[in-house]
Amino acid sequence: MPERFHAVMPAAGVGQRLAAGLPKQYLPILDAPMIVHTARALLAAAWIDELVIVVAPDDAGRAASLFQGWSRVRVRAIGGASRRDSVLAGVESLDAGPDDWVLVHDAARPGLPLAALDALREAAIADPVGALLALPVADTIKREDAGAPARSAGTVDRGGLWLAQTPQMFRLGMLRDALRACPGATDEAAAIEASGRRPRLVAGHRDNFKVTNAGDLAAMAAVLGARGASRRPGGH
Ligand code: C5P
Repeated sequence: MPERFHAVMPAAGVGQRLAAGLPKQYLPILDAPMIVHTARALLAAAWIDELVIVVAPDDAGRAASLFQGWSRVRVRAIGGASRRDSVLAGVESLDAGPDDWVLVHDAARPGLPLAALDALREAAIADPVGALLALPVADTIKREDAGAPARSAGTVDRGGLWLAQTPQMFRLGMLRDALRACPGATDEAAAIEASGRRPRLVAGHRDNFKVTNAGDLAAMAAVLGARGASRRPGGH
């Protein structure tokens, strides 16, 4: 059987720092909610067979109506208390074998470029463990002291440090077992690392930043606008 590629998008966060009453993944950017842009970014890769979007039970109706008619998308209202719980629920819901590939990508990263996604795939399928997108740290890193206001108490050697992004891509069986064994994992690579393996680091892209605050939302609108995101076909 040919290898299959499943994407899982955790989108069950309730982070409302950006707007009262609406989780950030549903906020509009240009022509569409953030979560729709993120789905478009993943489905731009024709090699992704299906995308499972994990939403909070309360958001079932809203999400289902956004993705009505998208043939490669399944919306599942099975989000959990933590990101790891939502991802594990999505992975366990897949109709897939242990050697199928799973890519996990945050709904809050709609700026993922197709070239980075393709590069991740090439690296992961050639690797015995799997891979994640990440960026080498370019800035000098400071450690603050205990007082307030914050003061710089030291400089951390940035050599060998990377900022993890998503997608993160692993074989289903390995990922499921690692996530089950690691309830505190903040990303998939952390769970894989805890199982004693070393995922491959693949250079991501600065446009693939996580939207967290109002400034990020405006910056992401500029990124997607410059790409003509609103004129692209839906990709579903
Ligand atoms: O909060 P943060 O931006 O780090 O969340 C990263 C991603 O994980 C978001 O897409 C968010 O919707 C998702 N998430 C989730 N279930 C949770 C918490 C976060 O699917 N319980």
